[in-house]
Amino acid sequence: MKKYNLPVILLNGIILLPNNKLKLEFDSKNTDNNVIDMSLLFHNNNILVVSEYSTNKEIGVLAKIKNNLELPNGNTRIEIVGIKRVKIVEFLNLSKTNEPLESIVSEFNISKIENEDIIISKLKKELKEYIKLIPYVSNSILDVIEKEKDLSKFVDIITSNVITDRKRIMEYLKTVDSLKRAEMLLQDIYLEKEKFQIERNLDLKVKKELDDNQKEFILKEKLRFIKEELGEYSSKDVEVENLKKKIEQLDCPKKIKERLKYELDRYEKNSNLSPESNVIRDYIDWLLNLPWNNFTTDNKVLKKVKEILDNSHYGLKEVKERIIEYLAVRQMNNNSNGPVICLVGPPGVGKTSLAISIAKAINRNFVKISVGGISDEAEIIGHRKTYIGASPGRIITSLKKAKTNNPLMLIDEIDKMNKDYHGDPASTLLNILDKEQNKYFSDNYIEEEFDLSNVLFILTANYIEDIPEALKDRLEIVNISGYTELEKVDIAYKYLLPKILKNNGLKENFVNINQDTILKIIRNYTKEAGVRELERQLDKIIRKIVTQIVLNNIKINKININNKSILKYLGNEKYKYNKKSKSQVGVVNGLAYTIYGGDILPIEVNYFKGKGNLVLTGNLGNVMKESATIALNYVKANYKKYGINYEVLTNNDIHIHVPEGAIKKDGPSAGIALTLAIISALTNKKISSDIALTGEITLRGHVLAIGGLKEKVIGALRAGIKTIIIPKDNLDQLNDIPKEVTENIKFIMVKEFKEVYEVIKNGK
Ligand code: ADP
Repeated sequence: MKKYNLPVILLNGIILLPNNKLKLEFDSKNTDNNVIDMSLLFHNNNILVVSEYSTNKEIGVLAKIKNNLELPNGNTRIEIVGIKRVKIVEFLNLSKTNEPLESIVSEFNISKIENEDIIISKLKKELKEYIKLIPYVSNSILDVIEKEKDLSKFVDIITSNVITDRKRIMEYLKTVDSLKRAEMLLQDIYLEKEKFQIERNLDLKVKKELDDNQKEFILKEKLRFIKEELGEYSSKDVEVENLKKKIEQLDCPKKIKERLKYELDRYEKNSNLSPESNVIRDYIDWLLNLPWNNFTTDNKVLKKVKEILDNSHYGLKEVKERIIEYLAVRQMNNNSNGPVICLVGPPGVGKTSLAISIAKAINRNFVKISVGGISDEAEIIGHRKTYIGASPGRIITSLKKAKTNNPLMLIDEIDKMNKDYHGDPASTLLNILDKEQNKYFSDNYIEEEFDLSNVLFILTANYIEDIPEALKDRLEIVNISGYTELEKVDIAYKYLLPKILKNNGLKENFVNINQDTILKIIRNYTKEAGVRELERQLDKIIRKIVTQIVLNNIKINKININNKSILKYLGNEKYKYNKKSKSQVGVVNGLAYTIYGGDILPIEVNYFKGKGNLVLTGNLGNVMKESATIALNYVKANYKKYGINYEVLTNNDIHIHVPEGAIKKDGPSAGIALTLAIISALTNKKISSDIALTGEITLRGHVLAIGGLKEKVIGALRAGIKTIIIPKDNLDQLNDIPKEVTENIKFIMVKEFKEVYEVIKNGK
């Protein structure tokens, strides 16, 4: 193979192919001048041109310098003509900056090509069509190649005229085989033609449908056409078609259908790119997915309803009766604007689950919305569409979920709504519950009316006192108070355990757990009026047992759960209830009623030298503080009656403490207990710790009724109390207390505080 030396020019950004020309201008100070001098002096004008040196170090073009012109500014201009591809064997002087760059090159063996003329004529034909089609390719090139007989030359000349992509041109440069290059060229010409044709069709089509200066429209049409070309038919068209069908099929009032058609029309005309488009699309979806005319048919057999409620919920006799009555009245007159049921009671007593059972029993879908903590009425009735990120309120959202227009809708925590500058959610709710008005209920977002008159609303609250007054007037309050321990045991056996076992795929008689153990769970692992925590603890035990059975692959039919296993499954005890302590001077048992149920509340009184001031500790609320002041002033006013030394009263400060300090206590019901504790301290007389008292006291010593009697009594019994003094006004509520409790406690009813004193004095 022939090898020879050549001076080198490196090109970056331009490419010289063989059989093409290139004009270059050199700075006179540049060393490349030396290269040109070398070429002219020693190499017969030959030079090696290496294009794209950074990526190409193998193939260069042997070229000849044709014109060498000195320009007035001292620069040199040359014209180089590429001759053929050569293999670069080695670069010389690469690292020497002062020396001209040289190389050693060798020539390729070029084999003869068969049928060169046929290929050339094929290429010529394609090229002619190409030039005809594409206006910006000069046809002067046709003259140049007209007589060309050498395929390699032919391809080289056309390549530089037709191919514009530098990377692709480099591929041509590096392909020595001219037949291969001819194939590449043919392929590229086809592709270019195809591309151009698509583009031209596109332009033509767009031009035809061109709507003056709507640039957006043009872009959209282009996009659509491209999609069509690619076989992806416009998704929007398909979408609009689908929506049209859905609207046709939608069972809804005529007005809604018209609105939908109008909105769809707007959607179709709106560009996909406009933000409005999404808003309209979402709105259409909402209207399409509301249950305008979907409803379930009520089960009117109230006997069956009662059966279902009994099967799902223990006790609650009065509650169930009132619900059945309520349903009966509704059946007689569905249009009446009667009161709405509101279930009031502490958490976990079954308000929600009872409502779910009612829904199931009368064959309605169930949905729940919570309004606790809401202060903005828009949460309930939605935001206007002009609002960014607007959406319907909770009523409409829940109806969509319900999929029917007559679900049982539970509105939870109505006693926890707030009122502020965003509006009054309570009055909004009032309108929603009112049958005269709710036929025409309108959500701010939906804008169109939705008839709510078929919805069966049931409300819940924890505290009756916190329900907004205006709302309370419209409600039929149904109280569900806490359960006694024995009721809880019953609920656990008859309802919770069977439910949990079933959920875990176990047979009903799989566990054997005695009453004592359940009581222990109730007393030491839960603190609640309801049974939610109890259910959770039982569930935890069963889950742990199931896990062990599965892990160890045990086969058993029954398992015993006792106090020991509880410790294993539930850990150490979490709660301890107060137990009555020993009788002491200045200590009296009051009774408390909290969200967790009832408990005894020991009140401690001490006195020490001072000026008759009152010191209160134990985290007492305002009402309870007032109660303490009233108690002390009543004692001051009546000191003689209770055998108190006046000196003791005036020369001492009185300290009342109600443990435990961390728990907030409030309410007026400790009045008589506070009074008695003060008297006990000042007269140095013990009050039996078997006694507990509850009742509000007035300055005149009248004893007024209190709330939560049932829970308080249950708490007292648990703590070991034997006698409870209660206001006479609470007499009626004694009937609500289960027999097993009342049988074990003595009740003393009082109207005046003096009667309390009589009881104590006589040691009853
Ligand atoms: P609330 O809504 O009053 O907070 P839930 O309805 O959520 O309470 O009740 C909590 C759990 O206690 C539910 O699993 C429910 O089934 C159960 N439960 C409550 N009361 C009873 C009852 N009287 N009989 C059977 N299960 C009850």
